Amino acid sequence: MKYFVVDRGDEISLKLTEQFHQLAASYGMILSDESPDYVVSIGGDGTMLHAFHRFINRLNDIAFVGIHTGRLGFYADWTPDEIEELARVMNSPAEADHLRIVRYPLVEIAITTKNGETETHVALNEFTLRGIEETLVAQLNINDVTFEMFRGDGICISTPSGSTAYNKALNGGLIHPSIEAIQIAEIASINNRVFRTLGSSMILPKHHHCDIYPHAKRRFLLSIDHLHAQRSDVVSIRCRVSDRKVHFARFRPYPFWSRVQRAFIGDDFNK
Ligand code: NAP
Repeated sequence: MKYFVVDRGDEISLKLTEQFHQLAASYGMILSDESPDYVVSIGGDGTMLHAFHRFINRLNDIAFVGIHTGRLGFYADWTPDEIEELARVMNSPAEADHLRIVRYPLVEIAITTKNGETETHVALNEFTLRGIEETLVAQLNINDVTFEMFRGDGICISTPSGSTAYNKALNGGLIHPSIEAIQIAEIASINNRVFRTLGSSMILPKHHHCDIYPHAKRRFLLSIDHLHAQRSDVVSIRCRVSDRKVHFARFRPYPFWSRVQRAFIGDDFNK
């Protein structure tokens, strides 16, 4: 079995990485940055975003596993003191029955530029378009029909697993990752008697798409997960549920709603 480790680079993550390499060697696992079967992310959910984008061209062939070194994560759900158990279950045929590969939807972002070219990206959490210095002005179409003229800080289009990240801070709803959908959430829209946007977030099913046409004369910041670029050459952006999916290896059940409960509510709700 071939594996690779992506870590956050802090002292604890580096120590755990070293420990995982030793455990992996004892099980005869082969370290490979070209064609790993498993990619172990050690750090936080942000580390998983780095791991995902590092192996973006091999998503079909890789199962990701996350060990969190800080608070409990959504993508990183093993604790540091479970590292030996993780290495054991990854390598034990007897545990293979417990291995479940879950496939989470991604958002596809197709950006058409002024020279007529279209570049396609995928995001694990979300895509955001934000104004730089000035308000973002952009027409939003849904399924090729004009929906609204957006004015405000920006627009966030998230995946179901990304719905607990930036989208949640924007009051978007949380979507179970078994639902193939994307969510459009507004970032500080301007709403008054002159300008009008829906104000609520919208959830599009797999067979729908939306197009954003940003006002040509303005510069904006385009973000895909943790990756950011300032652009002024964009004509339109089409977002839809991607045909590709990310695979996570689960060696034991850890339901999404339990992760939501532990991350945002915790055990102190009686206080
Ligand atoms: P980052 O430090 O890597 O991430 C920012 C925070 O978002 C961290 O606490 C991270 O958890 C958490 N996070 C990432 N993915 C998550 C998910 N799916 N569900 C719940 N929490 C999640 O920051 P970055 O490198 O600039 O950007 C990466 C991500 O940050 C973006 O994809 C965006 O979702 C998020 N972000 C959130 C806000 C906000 O909530 N207001 C604003 C900007 C960006 P860990 O500590 O476990 O890594």
